[in-house]
Amino acid sequence: MRTLEYIRASSTEQAIATHSRSDATAFLAGGTTLLDLVKLDIMQPDQVVDVHNLALNQIETLSDGRTRIGAMVSNTQLANHPRIKSEYAVLSQALLSGATTQLRNKATTAGNVMQRVRCNYFRDGVSACNKRNPGSGCAAIEGHNRSVHAVLGTSDQCIATHPSDMCVAMAAIGASVEVQGPSGKREINFLDFHLLPASTPWKEHALKPDELITHVTLDAPLTNNQSAYLKLRDRSSYQFALASSAVILVMDGKIIREARIAMGGLGTKPWRALEAERALQGVTASPEAFAKAAAIALQDAVPYSHNAYKIPLGRQAIVRNLMTLGTGALA
Ligand code: SF4
Repeated sequence: MRTLEYIRASSTEQAIATHSRSDATAFLAGGTTLLDLVKLDIMQPDQVVDVHNLALNQIETLSDGRTRIGAMVSNTQLANHPRIKSEYAVLSQALLSGATTQLRNKATTAGNVMQRVRCNYFRDGVSACNKRNPGSGCAAIEGHNRSVHAVLGTSDQCIATHPSDMCVAMAAIGASVEVQGPSGKREINFLDFHLLPASTPWKEHALKPDELITHVTLDAPLTNNQSAYLKLRDRSSYQFALASSAVILVMDGKIIREARIAMGGLGTKPWRALEAERALQGVTASPEAFAKAAAIALQDAVPYSHNAYKIPLGRQAIVRNLMTLGTGALA
């Protein structure tokens, strides 16, 4: 039996200082990812620093219209917050599409940002997996890669999708991740936080050693926006996305003034489709315009042996979402 030391932090500074005492260390928040992986012996920390009781559980509206979310705000609290439901509907919907009620009650905002991949070869503890055991290979590339493997942002080292729904909505909204570490505080653009696997798939995020996420700050909501999250999956609850879309639209009659699109289940990180957004800006809403934008969003997709279906499915996830939001303009 492996033993580990449990330390409950009483301040952010103490959490960071304690975390820095060991290389085999982990912050513990809701524990919905970490404890699973420790039990599976995929992660082997010799100490965990519990940050769950830190005073990082507020949702505030800043004077510039942005919304600052404490790292320990639960997924349930965030999804049901009145401002999130009214101004950032896409985020509330994405959160409520994930996991189960019990898990959402425990899972935190920072933990959701930091969740690990669901690749079966990563979690079985024995297969070749560059993410778990650098240099060992990637069993998924020639293996069973139907559901939790990507078609965008892959490399010959790793093809696992990022599993979060919440992060897809945040990528569409625009956000920054506030972190605190031994050298002080800094902000990381949300789109730069998660890293592509490239030749170093074990590096998953832009955190430096011993840095702790303290907040995620959402950009101010677009005026008169409509937004929605559409998640396509094998069963209707407690299942990861095969393909999903987070769409935000601002319409002026039939003209699309602004469009934001991000995708889940398709990329190795939450995937913002900037070129597809540009293709919609200023054009008249139509099924043809939506289909063109969806084609652009998936134009660089590379399929593997069992997941080519994700390319048309991903296009449909975007088109259906746009059609639903743009119904008034199309009528
Ligand atoms: Fe490991 Fe990534 Fe390959 Fe899965 S896809 S086996 S996580 S390297």
